[in-house]
Amino acid sequence: MITYYIAGAISLFFACAYLRLPLWAWTIAFGVLVVSTQNVPFIAVFAVLALILNVPLIRRALISNRILAVYRRILPDMSQTEKEAIDAGTVWWDADLFSGKPDWDKLLAVKEPKLTAEEQAFLDGPVEELCRMCDDWEITHERQDLPAHVWQFIKDKGFLGMIIPKKYGGLGFSALAHSAVVMKLSTRSAAAAITVMVPNSLGPGELLLHYGTEAQKDHYLPRLAKGHEIPCFALTNPEAGSDAASIPDYGVVCKGTWQGKETLGMRVTWDKRYITLGPVATLLGLAFRLYDPEKLLGSQTDLGITCALVPTNTPGVNIGRRHLPLNAVFQNGPNSGKDVFMPLDWIIGGPEYAGKGWMMLMGCLAAGRAISLPTSSVGGVKALTRFTGAYARVRSQFRTPIGKLEGVEEALGRIAAHCYMMDATRVMTAGAVDLGEKPAVLSAIAKYHMTERARACVNDAMDIHGGKGICLGPSNWIGRGYQMTPIAITVEGANILTRTLIIFGQGAIRAHPYVLREMRAAKEMQGAEAAREFDDALMSHIGHVVSNGVRAFVYGVTHASFAPVPRNSSKETRHYFRHISRLSAAFAFLADMSMLAMGGALKRKEKISGRLGDVLSMMYLVSATLKRYEDQGRLREDLPLVRWSVRDALYHAQQAIDQILSNFPVKALATLLRWTVFPLGTPWRPPLDSRNHECARIALEPGAARDRLTAGMFISRNESEATGQLEAALLATVACQPIEKKLREAVKAGVIVPRSGIDTATVARDNNVITTDELQLWQRKEALRKNVIKVDDFPQDFGRAEIVRSSQDELREKPVSARAA
Ligand SMILES: Cc1cc2nc3c(=O)[nH]c(=O)nc-3n(C[C@H](O)[C@H](O)[C@H](O)COP(=O)(O)OP(=O)(O)OC[C@H]3O[C@@H](n4cnc5c(N)ncnc54)[C@H](O)[C@@H]3O)c2cc1C
Repeated sequence: MITYYIAGAISLFFACAYLRLPLWAWTIAFGVLVVSTQNVPFIAVFAVLALILNVPLIRRALISNRILAVYRRILPDMSQTEKEAIDAGTVWWDADLFSGKPDWDKLLAVKEPKLTAEEQAFLDGPVEELCRMCDDWEITHERQDLPAHVWQFIKDKGFLGMIIPKKYGGLGFSALAHSAVVMKLSTRSAAAAITVMVPNSLGPGELLLHYGTEAQKDHYLPRLAKGHEIPCFALTNPEAGSDAASIPDYGVVCKGTWQGKETLGMRVTWDKRYITLGPVATLLGLAFRLYDPEKLLGSQTDLGITCALVPTNTPGVNIGRRHLPLNAVFQNGPNSGKDVFMPLDWIIGGPEYAGKGWMMLMGCLAAGRAISLPTSSVGGVKALTRFTGAYARVRSQFRTPIGKLEGVEEALGRIAAHCYMMDATRVMTAGAVDLGEKPAVLSAIAKYHMTERARACVNDAMDIHGGKGICLGPSNWIGRGYQMTPIAITVEGANILTRTLIIFGQGAIRAHPYVLREMRAAKEMQGAEAAREFDDALMSHIGHVVSNGVRAFVYGVTHASFAPVPRNSSKETRHYFRHISRLSAAFAFLADMSMLAMGGALKRKEKISGRLGDVLSMMYLVSATLKRYEDQGRLREDLPLVRWSVRDALYHAQQAIDQILSNFPVKALATLLRWTVFPLGTPWRPPLDSRNHECARIALEPGAARDRLTAGMFISRNESEATGQLEAALLATVACQPIEKKLREAVKAGVIVPRSGIDTATVARDNNVITTDELQLWQRKEALRKNVIKVDDFPQDFGRAEIVRSSQDELREKPVSARAA
């Protein structure tokens, strides 16, 4: 009989937890079981427990208030800047992934983001034109800057004001269009892309739009939109890079003389470096800490980080020198000032926004971070996919196109599949921004994983290109991209920090359904209000943990057969949705157990939190990939890309979990967690070689799938330049395949005998194996192929000339010419 009751209790536990039933439903279900035992002492104990748990007043007094007291003691105090970082932005699909029960129908119901006709016309017109105007070798080597006419075109066509609304003279573009423009430019010239990207990302424009006074907006926005002002934003100091909230740059509120009148202002001292567009900027967005020792503005003396707009021709502003970030040659440099007096109304938002700079920066960071670097990385990888695929088809070794040699194919297939997943993530993330989200965590995921995938892809592409990728010159379409890759890794939150501190750290607090509520109740509320809020959040939190643990286990033993999928999922992708539902439950359980086991120390256990962040990230990337497949009408041709990239992400998530468990500080708990999450062992395997082969074929084969994969990039049709030649060479190579077959068979059959000094095709035509037209096709293909495999060479004094130029400080002159433009 006892066995029967124990079995009943276990089944009830699993059923109630799996179904996420409320506490009262658990009580009724277990109550029926307990009463059926007819054991009076047992029933009495159960009744007391049920009373304690179900009557909030008693529960609070006996349980949750005590936990609240302990929690308040162990919860570290948060600085104002930490609070502002956590409060910044919004949560979206990340909250679903954190819930352990993602609502797939909700995600798939989100309409696929689309460009308007006007935005598409801008891409087909000015963006295409700008791409044509950019010669990367001229920009990165000969001029080390954009030519003056390119600068002018960028300003005249409104590229610098894409996010500025039309009423201020801007283009008023959606996030998707902004992303599409940056992506296309990135496939042609990194310098042009970054020049356009920065004013449209976090900086004066965005800060003014959200926080500027009407007077500031009316004055500056039209000027920024038309390129009459070149903005930059200066936060980083030599002493404060990643830890930007601790900048030592300062301002002191004081009276001074401004335009002949006594004015309440501030004397600002700063030393900034790495500032993009700084050397050519006319308007400096400046972050510094503002102090008011004489209490001229109020009772506070340390007002906090403040953002001001400073015209760069203000006396005392030192600007104009430049850094050389890995030959990327976009304008980037240091600037400084000592005791520069400026009126208070230069503060963005006016004097009442003094000290609110960190909140403003954090509030605006998410949108820009969701677009700039993810997008430029996707652009880079689209170009890599198209160019590397073409090169691997045109270049032969061992009488075989190198792309068909398995080792090369492996690398090429990876590039193509990453490209699909990356573009899907770009579009979904930009779409979230267009829905009004400021996705703090998702933008960090997009930034980290797009830039890291770009790094992996460019390494693969370099390997495939061999020496052709290494020797720089106008014929090299890949070397500069390889050089510049670390820039995207480092800016807008260096990647190690983004992975280990932001993705999970911020996600666990922001996207978790209960943690922030508990923290707020503990730190920001008092008395009965705090007790009620904490009790409610805590009880829900416990239910959430138990439910996720049970779900993770049930999905584990059933191979996720019952895990949620969208209502109308296709049979090709249904199991992937199931796996992510399983992973979501496992992740949510693991995240809570890690927080329970390590508490505040988890923040310092970056190896664990980084891996938890990886699991969350993989789920987001897979969600975007599956959504793209659905949104685009389940194109079967694209299925290999979906399959490879999803399997790869699932496998990585599994490895991350495995490593978390292997390194979990509480070993007994780690064993229990492993049994729960992987009850039948680790389920996911790396992608199959056959899928990799199919992905590589898409990159090697001209056609709809390749065009779709690289859609939105600039494709040169100019056969006198390297990438135009490459595209033409690919088409010619494919067109010549039947001719090649005829030649091979004729040689094999002894119909023609290759003769040294005379090409085989001419011999074949002379022997009527191919026609004269075919010979011409073949010869054109050969001419293109020879150009494609060519690398550049230079005179002996090539490098020395450069050293002489920079020692004469000629480079310093460049910004002036650009400003004049
Ligand atoms: C080309 C370029 C353009 C830039 N443009 C601008 C601009 O326009 N405006 C501007 O204000 N700034 C700009 N920056 C600055 C950029 O944001 C910083 O370089 C970046 O924040 C990192 O700072 P740092 O280089 O000083 O590295 P550090 O802060 O010294 O970091 C070094 C390493 O330590 C890691 N790290 C630091 N803290 C942690 C942590 N808690 N946990 C784990 N890892 C950690 C970082 O991830 C990094 O890998 C630019 C930088 C470059 C190189």
